[in-house]
Amino acid sequence: MSGKIVKGIAGFYYVCIENGDVYECKAKGAFRNKNIKPLVGDNVVMDIINQEEKKGNIIEICDRKNELIRPAVANIDQAMIIFALKKPDPNLNLLDKFLVMMEYQNIDTIICFNKMDISDEDFMNELDSIYSKAGYKVMFASATEEKGVESIMELLKNKSTVFAGPSGVGKSSMLNALTKDYKMETGSVSRKIGRGKHTTRHSEIFYVGDDTYIFDTPGFSSLYVPGMTKESLEDCYGEFEKYKDKCRFVGCAHISEPDCAVKEALAGGHIDESRYENYKLMYNELKEKERRY
Ligand code: GDP
Ligand code: ZN
Repeated sequence: MSGKIVKGIAGFYYVCIENGDVYECKAKGAFRNKNIKPLVGDNVVMDIINQEEKKGNIIEICDRKNELIRPAVANIDQAMIIFALKKPDPNLNLLDKFLVMMEYQNIDTIICFNKMDISDEDFMNELDSIYSKAGYKVMFASATEEKGVESIMELLKNKSTVFAGPSGVGKSSMLNALTKDYKMETGSVSRKIGRGKHTTRHSEIFYVGDDTYIFDTPGFSSLYVPGMTKESLEDCYGEFEKYKDKCRFVGCAHISEPDCAVKEALAGGHIDESRYENYKLMYNELKEKERRY
């Protein structure tokens, strides 16, 4: 029997099969030797050991399309990073860190600013300008008033999307708004495996119909991916791309070097000030981290 891991808790993996049934499984297969740990999002083959109690063993993990480290999930097409426009005010340094983390892992990212019902147009235009200029698709929505939800659904269709963002920004509300129709039709996977039963949150998949999956992931303890260096940071800033090879010095960090094309682009308004300031902060944080090891 084949299925998909929709949740993992304390050594158990919850595998959803085609008809929506979920089996509680242990990982017992040859893949153990190959040093692979099952991840939420994995497509797997399992043996059913108890049909009545819906228990099984995972015996094989199918080849992964990709694998993220933060959050630890497999087979992802894109990420949607959600921040609120207000309550809480968006921390753009944190947002840029989320973006860098996704860029570093080569994941296409959409930015969604939620709670537009309590924000104002000027602020939305400002954010739109910053992040569109940086090359991102920027969406505005109100999950509770169901504004902008349909356009977001369009972007998610036929894809597996990771939802990420700080707590309190409306991720659960957005998930609810997006899965409402589907829940009414068939009862979602999440209901069957009892969302909210556990106090600690784990990555979890929601099937939204039409080969569309949403990966809801808890907050990350660290926003840096292992192996990331200060030198790799410039590659995570798409808007530096056009300039970074035109600096006078090879290996220019774009901070205090003379004749830096990135800083010239900044002065010319082609690179956004807030994005650049956060680049410097992250650069120094990574530098500090490297010094400590
Ligand atoms: P999460 O921690 O990211 O999952 O956020 P929740 O979905 O739990 O939402 C946190 C709070 O923000 C709740 O009180 C929601 O009712 C509220 N909220 C969520 N979306 C919106 C929105 O679009 N507008 C407003 N005004 N409040 C919202
Ligand atoms: Zn430079």
